[in-house]
Amino acid sequence: MSRRANGYDYIIVGAGAAGCVLAGRLSEDPHVRVLLLEAGGADRAREIRIPAAFSRLFKSSVDWNYSTEPEPHAHNRQLYWPRGKVLGGSSSINAMIYIRGNRLDYEHWKSLGNEGWGYADVLPYFLKSENQQRGASQYHGTGGPLCVSDLRYVNPLTQAFLAAAKELGIPPNPDFNGVEQDGAGPYQVTQRNGQRHSGADAYLKPALGRPNLTVLTEAHATRVLLESNRAVGVEYVSQGETASVVADREVILSGGAINSPQLLLLSGIGPAEELKRVGIRPAHELRGVGKNLQDHPMVSVGYLCRQPVSMASAESLGNLLRYVLFKRGPLTSNVAEAGIFARTRPGLDVPDLQLIFGPAYYVNHGFDTHKEHCFGFGPTLVAPESRGEIALRSADRLAAPAIRANYVSTENDLRVIVEGVRLCRRIARSKAFRTYSGDELIPGSSVTSDQDIAEFVRCALQTLYHPVGTCKMGQDDLAVVDAHLRVRGIEALRVVDASIMPRIIAGNTNAPTVMIAEKAADMIRAGSDRTDTSVRRH
Ligand SMILES: Cc1cc2nc3c(=O)[nH]c(=O)nc-3n(C[C@H](O)[C@H](O)[C@H](O)COP(=O)(O)OP(=O)(O)OC[C@H]3O[C@@H](n4cnc5c(N)ncnc54)[C@H](O)[C@@H]3O)c2cc1C
Repeated sequence: MSRRANGYDYIIVGAGAAGCVLAGRLSEDPHVRVLLLEAGGADRAREIRIPAAFSRLFKSSVDWNYSTEPEPHAHNRQLYWPRGKVLGGSSSINAMIYIRGNRLDYEHWKSLGNEGWGYADVLPYFLKSENQQRGASQYHGTGGPLCVSDLRYVNPLTQAFLAAAKELGIPPNPDFNGVEQDGAGPYQVTQRNGQRHSGADAYLKPALGRPNLTVLTEAHATRVLLESNRAVGVEYVSQGETASVVADREVILSGGAINSPQLLLLSGIGPAEELKRVGIRPAHELRGVGKNLQDHPMVSVGYLCRQPVSMASAESLGNLLRYVLFKRGPLTSNVAEAGIFARTRPGLDVPDLQLIFGPAYYVNHGFDTHKEHCFGFGPTLVAPESRGEIALRSADRLAAPAIRANYVSTENDLRVIVEGVRLCRRIARSKAFRTYSGDELIPGSSVTSDQDIAEFVRCALQTLYHPVGTCKMGQDDLAVVDAHLRVRGIEALRVVDASIMPRIIAGNTNAPTVMIAEKAADMIRAGSDRTDTSVRRH
């Protein structure tokens, strides 16, 4: 293919978890020229590095600071949705928990007609991406770009949580990404030497010296340029000016589950009637763009702690010094230190409840504070039936889209979180917590019946920050991309990020997104039409 002046072979939109993987992997080939466009800026904020400070990044300059539309099953509340707008994307502001989900999640993706996405197909890409502190095994890799570590600091309350789970008959699980997902255990985190290891740290920074990789920050992509049914470039806005850039081979959208569908819609790719309604001329009808939105809702359940051991003293002078000098101590904690995966009813193929524990008062995304020592749980629905959507509010290229999460729209979704709240209470009443548990602050001891707890859930639920599914991979009418992540009906255009998941996985979504991008990089390098059969090691 001929190279046009100023052209790149690949243009990647979005330097998030997926975009950084692609930029790093594709630019390993010195013969291709790669451009990475990122709407946010450099990842210089100190709080990005310090694990315990992640919630300080919320509503800051590195956050898109989205809100949902009024949520019909949550008392019409408009819920805050942080998303990273910075190199590393949401992997620069997330809670660093390293979870892959359940092997059956991937079997399900495959059963929907997505050849090459079963567990045996994706496991090699998890291993390829990974630099596992515990060493290599059947389930783990070493020598990959992304550092996966045990927490350097584990709070005594977290030890009590693990002991309590055992007391209740929940089996210990030292590795949620190994043989079994169910059980209780400490989380591993994407950290290196006690500091966050984002997608940008792992994949992008080591590649920045390559002459064939160009990174443009503060470049907000506003449209995919199409010539008949082929993507030929990207229009973007930088410092108030509109510019465009040409891709000789492919345009790859990695803007995440909110922005990738938004960009397709702004480019006229989506449900034709909806596009016309906001004044956009349809270029290619794809009914599923923005549909199939799935997320993990959770509530905070909080207790007073009768001993002064919680994260409330994490920022003491001594702890600051420990962190600055040795990268040790409570500031290396990701706050959400351990968890449980459980099934709330028989007959489920994957866990539907993830119960997160933190030795801290984590309420309203950390914006609400409490002057005393506290601890808390985050019972989270991880196999939701509810589906929402991303849609355009207008043709304004820089405006936020409408987010309709549609949380707990089924009775079962609500029930799982109610069961989760009950499990938190059993743990807080256990022998292991006897010396720690004080009054229940949230929801409070007066909230006892299923009905009362369900009402509490509707009043208090929030996102666990895992939106996916809005450009889903598949073969049905609502599928946006095929199993090679190519946009159906458009040449030279792919979507590679969390939006392609056909069904949300039962767990945190960063590691699966990295896996998706590793696999996509192999597919792109192998040529679009070839099914990759083996993982390339570089
Ligand atoms: C607060 C928070 C906590 C989380 N905690 C965890 C956790 O502990 N463990 C876990 O596994 N997952 C966690 N997640 C989820 C995880 O980080 C995401 O699933 C993952 O980052 C998704 O990757 P992505 O590449 O799809 O999108 P992102 O990482 O969000 O990247 C998208 C990138 O594209 C850029 N972009 C978007 N639109 C445009 C445009 N038009 N032009 C140019 N650039 C654009 C964005 O600025 C961003 O950099 C958390 C997320 C958040 C927000």
